[in-house]
Amino acid sequence: MTSPMSLPEAKLDAALAEADLRVLLMVVYHLTGDDHWLSEPFLPQRDVNLIADEDAGLSPEAQAELRATAKALLSAGTTHPAINDPAERMPDLMQTCLGERVPAEYATMMREEMGFADRRIKWSGPSMADRAKHPVIIIGAGASGLTVGYNLRELGIPFVILEKNDEVGGTWLENRYPGCAVDTPNHAYSFSFGSREPWERYFSKRDALLRYMISRSQEFGLREFIRFGTAVTRCDWDEGSACWRVQCTGPDGAQTLTGMALISAIGPLSLPSKAPIPGADNFNGPLFHSAEWPEDLDVTGKRVAVIGTGASSMQIVPTIVDRVASLTVYQRTPQWVRHIPRFQDQMTEGQCWLLENVPFYAEWFRFTMLWRYGDGLLRTLKRDPDWPHPERAMNRMNDRHREQMAAHIEQELDGRPDLLAKCMPIYPPYAKRILLDNGWYQALCKPNCELVTDHIERITAGGVQTKDGTDRSADIIVLATGFKVFQNAARLNVTGRNERRLEQDWADDDPKAHLGITAPGFPNMFFMQGPNTVLAHGGSAIFTSECQARYAVGAIVRMLEDGIAALDVRQDVHDDYMARVDAEHRELVWNHPGMKPWYRNAKGRVAAAIPWRLVDYWTMTREPDLDEYHLTRETGT
Ligand code: NAP
Repeated sequence: MTSPMSLPEAKLDAALAEADLRVLLMVVYHLTGDDHWLSEPFLPQRDVNLIADEDAGLSPEAQAELRATAKALLSAGTTHPAINDPAERMPDLMQTCLGERVPAEYATMMREEMGFADRRIKWSGPSMADRAKHPVIIIGAGASGLTVGYNLRELGIPFVILEKNDEVGGTWLENRYPGCAVDTPNHAYSFSFGSREPWERYFSKRDALLRYMISRSQEFGLREFIRFGTAVTRCDWDEGSACWRVQCTGPDGAQTLTGMALISAIGPLSLPSKAPIPGADNFNGPLFHSAEWPEDLDVTGKRVAVIGTGASSMQIVPTIVDRVASLTVYQRTPQWVRHIPRFQDQMTEGQCWLLENVPFYAEWFRFTMLWRYGDGLLRTLKRDPDWPHPERAMNRMNDRHREQMAAHIEQELDGRPDLLAKCMPIYPPYAKRILLDNGWYQALCKPNCELVTDHIERITAGGVQTKDGTDRSADIIVLATGFKVFQNAARLNVTGRNERRLEQDWADDDPKAHLGITAPGFPNMFFMQGPNTVLAHGGSAIFTSECQARYAVGAIVRMLEDGIAALDVRQDVHDDYMARVDAEHRELVWNHPGMKPWYRNAKGRVAAAIPWRLVDYWTMTREPDLDEYHLTRETGT
């Protein structure tokens, strides 16, 4: 948290000129502990932009004084800040930093996210790790699997990670389509633990994300615990030994491993959904799903068809449009797309330097991103029973967002009434997954691009035929048609207590789990990114993984400490939780009948998205309540 050396003056001057002053104010407060910085004229103004203006609305005089003070403090060395962890001052600091109300209930969660408070699970007495008769088996070495592995390693609990690929990274390894990038701000979309990554963009590209995952797997010492190239074929609960038997095939052939607990960390968006369009087998050229983009494919000068207009398509289309001969985009449902000023910007050299070198800067910058891309939107997505236009918006604020997004689309498609008619949605904004404007509309306006809204009839040898009988030629077809999200861990071929099959319990695309983490009849099994835990209103998926890892590993620690052989969530607890999830969702936008988001299954239940605020989920998952579980004690304890 502290830097032992003073910082070079020339670098400091240049960097301070580019500093986000609301963040710099917090740095100065940490270094001095002087309350006068938390009053006028240094109070930052609220800024609703995700990437806020760096001057924070301060007067030129206040800016100059703040920078000069920061320079003096940092030049003098920062070995002894007045405040390391703001603890009880956190509520004040959060509000001052952002110039808006931030409820005090966020204070501890944010301190953990910023690394001021330790989130790691601890033994309540001496380590009981050697009581583990078998390792914990984790399936998947993406961000979730690495998070669980990190926590278990810190505690000394034996574990093994089975990974079907030859490298870590999960979604960031598999998706390599042109333009692939994160659309959660990166300074929030990163682990709360380990060294801070000097992200060069607000929203990083896939290669940077994959490098991050690989380097953290090294930093956390996890690689020796990972069996690469190893695919799980079935998982069976063995009641006699209270263990999981996990069958897998890998470089050494087929094997059965025994685990004291089983953690599915296979990712919610890892199974491509290839639209069942007739004729796909007859196509003469490359035809593939967006997540299976061929490594050596060159689209230059080719006629490319992209089916689908979700997040993947929105990144592919603007990236390749200038390279291809023609681009035909097949749209089934128009999308609301949010304009984020400076979305594509690189961080400046000065900002990167501040993030890497100035104590407390990275922590508070992360806080601003966590908050702005956090819970704020959720309350605007709730149905107002008195709102007179429920077909177009959930409430007045949601309608205001609709107007802003509609104005953006009109501006982008000025002079193209044909495209405007095709692109303007009629359902409420945010009802489908939030999308950010990557240059989408500008790409659609290019002379070599066509947006087709007639439904697809079939794929032919030479292209795509729509229902109106039109044939459009293509050399390459990309299925940007999304993922099978509802199978989740059920596709691991899991049999629990009394021959209970997860596949059956979750049949008809209807997975359910207590807190999204445990299901009755499947003792000692935990789901990462399980049912109803996908963040749909904002926030970072790494945050939810950390919540789930704390809960799961917390339960494993209790098992070892208390001599518990098996821990199986009570059916009534599970059902009550699911009833609360469903009741909450009935009032939220993803249930709106005007469209079909991928969060909702065919029978109309929102089974993927979380209905809670981040702070609610963080509170619910802080520690497992063992009264909610049937416990089987170790014999002799
Ligand atoms: P998606 O959002 O599910 O979009 C699939 C698209 O394909 C939709 O436009 C859908 O139309 C269309 N489609 C599906 N079946 C079709 C069919 N039979 N015929 C014609 N069109 C069909 O999938 P995605 O774009 O791969 O994104 C999935 C999720 O992955 C995202 O929502 C996001 O959570 C994640 N993701 C994240 C990033 C990122 O962070 N940057 C990037 C990519 C993906 P309808 O709209 O009518 O259903």
